[in-house]
Parts: sequence; C-alpha cells; structure tokens
Amino acid sequence: MRVAIAGAGLAGLSCAKYLTDAGHTPIVLESRDVLGGLVAAWKDSDGDWYETGLHAFFGAYPNMLQLLKELGIEDRLQWKEHTLIFNQPDKPGTLSRFDVPDIPSPFNVIASILRNKDMLTWEQKIRFAIGLLPAVVRGQKYVEDMDKYSFLEWLKRQGVDERVTSDVFIAACKALTFVNPDEVSATILLTALNRFLQERYGSKIAFLDGSPTERLCSPIVDYIRERGGEVRLNAPLKEILLNADGTVKAYLIRGLNGAEDEVFTADVYVSAMSVDPMKVMLPKPWKQMEFFKKLEGLEGVPVINLHLWFDRKLTEIDHLLFSRSPLLSVYADMSNTCREYANRDRSMLELVLAPAKDWIAKSDEEIVAATIAELEKLFPDHFGGDNPATLLKSHVVKTPRSVYKATPGRQQYRPAQVTPIANFYLAGSYTMQRYLGSMEGAVLSGKLTAQAISEALPVVNPSNLQTLTRPPATNAATA
Ligand SMILES: Cc1cc2nc3c(=O)[nH]c(=O)nc-3n(C[C@H](O)[C@H](O)[C@H](O)COP(=O)(O)OP(=O)(O)OC[C@H]3O[C@@H](n4cnc5c(N)ncnc54)[C@H](O)[C@@H]3O)c2cc1C
Repeated sequence: MRVAIAGAGLAGLSCAKYLTDAGHTPIVLESRDVLGGLVAAWKDSDGDWYETGLHAFFGAYPNMLQLLKELGIEDRLQWKEHTLIFNQPDKPGTLSRFDVPDIPSPFNVIASILRNKDMLTWEQKIRFAIGLLPAVVRGQKYVEDMDKYSFLEWLKRQGVDERVTSDVFIAACKALTFVNPDEVSATILLTALNRFLQERYGSKIAFLDGSPTERLCSPIVDYIRERGGEVRLNAPLKEILLNADGTVKAYLIRGLNGAEDEVFTADVYVSAMSVDPMKVMLPKPWKQMEFFKKLEGLEGVPVINLHLWFDRKLTEIDHLLFSRSPLLSVYADMSNTCREYANRDRSMLELVLAPAKDWIAKSDEEIVAATIAELEKLFPDHFGGDNPATLLKSHVVKTPRSVYKATPGRQQYRPAQVTPIANFYLAGSYTMQRYLGSMEGAVLSGKLTAQAISEALPVVNPSNLQTLTRPPATNAATA
C-alpha cells in the first residue's frame, strides 16, 4: 500500500518507519530542505550546529527509547545523573538539586523532594504531597478531568501555597509547555508528575550525542529507504485534492523554482504537519465536519531557542538546568552535555526563551542582549569584574508556532489519528496521545497512525494468501 505522508517531523518519520515494518510503502513529503520539523538543526559556516530547540529526552519516553533500540542507535543518548537542577535567583550563581536516589519509585522521587532543603519548607512539601494524592490514587481519569483548571488554579484548590508555584512549578511549566502556570492546563503537569512518580528512571534526563537531524532523523530515513519507502525534501503540500465523495484523490505538491505543481497519488494519505498548517490546508467540504472544526481550538505557541558561544568555560555542569529566570526557561552548556558539541575550553550555552510572545517579533540583537543580562545573574563570577566573559557569536532560532499551546480545556480539541475520511489520517504531537506536545508524543502519534492504517488495510502477503487458501492438512486428515 502506498501511503503519502506530509511532514518529516518526528511524527511523520515515525509513522513511515512503522508503516515499512508492516509491509507498506510510505512516501514522506517535507516542505523544507531539512528533516525534523521542531527538532531540525543546521550547521553554520564555522561547522557549528544550531537547533530549533534544546531537546531533553526522559526515561519516561518508552516509545522513543523503543524506536532508538529498533534503529540500533540507543547508545546515542547520553544519560545524565538522576537529578533535577535549579538556579536560585535569590542567591545568584548557586544551584539547588533534587537528587533522585536509585531506589524504587515513587520513593526515589519523594526522597529527592524531602532531601531538598533550599526550595521548599517542610510544610510546603507536606501540603503539596497531600494535594497530589488524588492524582496518584485516582490515576489518569482524574488527571484528564483536571484539564478544566490551569495548574495555578489546581494548586490553589489543593491548598498549596503560592511559594511552591513560584519556586518549582514556574520552571517546570515553562520547560514543558513554554507558558506560565496561570496559563497551562493542570493535566500537563499532573501527567508529567504521574510518569515521574510511577517509573523508577522516568525523570532521568538524556541528551542526544549530536544534532537531532543527523543523529536521530537521518537513521530513521535510512531505515525507511532500505525498506522501499521514500523521503523527499522540498516537497510542500499545496492542496489536498478531493474525490466527489469527499475522500482524498491526491496531494498537490507545489513546484519550486518555477517547476510545475505535481499531482501525487497514493492509496492512503497522512498529514504529519503541525496543527497550524493543517488548519490552513483543510479542504472546504471538511471544514464543516465536527471532527475538523475542533482543530480551531488548537494553535502553536511561540518559543525562541538561543545559542551563545563564549571565549571561556562558564560551567562544568553536564546537565539540563532550570534557570528560574522570568525571561528564560531551561538551558544547558552543550560543550559539556553533547559529545559532538564538546569543547574543553569554551562554553556554548543553548537556552530556551519562554514565554516568548512578547519577544518573538524583536530583533536577534535585542533578544541576545536581554539574555546576556540574565546570564549576569546566573553566572555572576564570569560577568562581573574586570575580565567579563566575551560572547564570540550567537544564533537565535524563533518558532512563532511550535507545539500546541496547552491551555486549560485543550484536551477536547485534540483529534484522534483516525479521521472520518476513509483514506486520510493525522499524526503529530498535537493529536490525542498521552505524552502531550513532546518528542515522545510525536513518535507515539506516528506509531498509532501506522497501526491504525495497518489494521484498516492489512498488507496481503502472497505467502500468507497461499496458506490461507490451501486446505489445512490437519482438517483434511481428521475429515
Ligand atoms: C524550543 C523547543 C524545545 C523543545 N524541547 C523539547 C524537549 O526537551 N523534549 C521533548 O520531548 N520535546 C521538546 N520539544 C517538542 C518537540 O520538538 C515536538 O513536540 C516534536 O518534535 C513535534 O513533532 P511533530 O512531528 O509532531 O511536529 P513538527 O516537528 O512540527 O513536524 C511537522 C513537519 O511538517 C512540515 N510541514 C509543514 N507544512 C507542510 C507542508 N505544507 N507540506 C509538507 N510538510 C509540511 C514541517 O516543516 C515539519 O517538518 C521542543 C520544541 C521546541 C520548539
């Protein structure tokens, strides 16, 4: 079965990978000249990589880990110490750690919270633990029901005091969804907390050993091609052409550089585009359908990823850091955390700026200047004094619409992978799956789409056909 997939982000690539496993022939059509969508990366003229986003992998990513294993590249994840590290704004230059001991869950996470003396008082810890009990006891159903509240509202309802929010959860919300706790759905944080509490290594963090495009996406593409599938770059979907009955007749691919548009036909069609281009692409007759109308309830959230190269080492920490800065979310010194970006003498900080709605339209110079002002608080030893660290170069990557904005009430708008159109499916981290807008969510969504297609349209293997049509020997003998 030929399956046309629009979008070579992780969802599209994962969908194609699992379709080849099921004996189908996927053809991935990507609009840009780079693989990966939100994990795309580029090399500058010095040979240095810069990325759409600083990406952390978690132990609680079973589908991503399985995919890496199936590709034989699981050794490309560089696992870090099992700890979460936060900056302390009131004590510039100091860090506070939640070290997770190697004991069964949930005791490991509970021990890490109890042992942290900097960020929460005993009373706050106990109140938060009690507040969390319904999520642990009543499970995923309770977590889903809490989508009607923002995380801040949920904390207040549980009687958890404001300082807990400002201390830990602003950082966590910004890291997971690029928005603050007053805007993010309670379901998001509770889902993540549940995974971390239920899996011994769920909160353990890894970094890829190089750029996601080369080290993660390329091996998926090789796998697809070796099994008869195709991945085409510079092949933007322009229009979804319909049959009279509303099913898909073809994908119209825009011809680039004066080339003619191409009518691309297949047996089945998948959109693995993110939700914003999918909404634009909806054919008119589909816009009336309840299933597709719901997409209007979803839109991508802006985020900015910065790369700053310095003339010296700012830190030796080989881990993700939660900045707890109003401007920034998480950051890492990639010269320590990532093998291919390693440098013993100079730091390359990769930082996520979020929430980014007030910054996305500003110039790169303004964004870099504001970030450096924040770094003066995070690294006072290197920016105060007579010999401050010098910025050698920078790259700023702005994404005006990234993952879907996970505000309260969004769960009901997230579509299933199977649509009412018989030969059309959706994939993408915004579609309904339990891992939210993440790499794990993208990989899982693609896998679910491939499964749904294979169930609806199983490949008829000629050797199976023979076995099925031949009269079973045992029956003949007993007859
Ligand atoms: C700054 C940042 C940091 C992040 N950090 C993390 C993290 O630490 N951990 C984590 O798990 N996740 C993280 N994420 C989220 C993660 O990257 C995404 O959830 C995931 O990559 C989304 O994959 P996707 O395939 O669903 O969508 P996308 O990656 O958006 O892929 C959609 C693809 O469709 C293509 N496309 C669009 N229009 C067309 C068209 N007309 N024709 C053909 N193709 C088209 C796009 O070019 C793109 O390649 C981060 C994201 C960002 C931006």
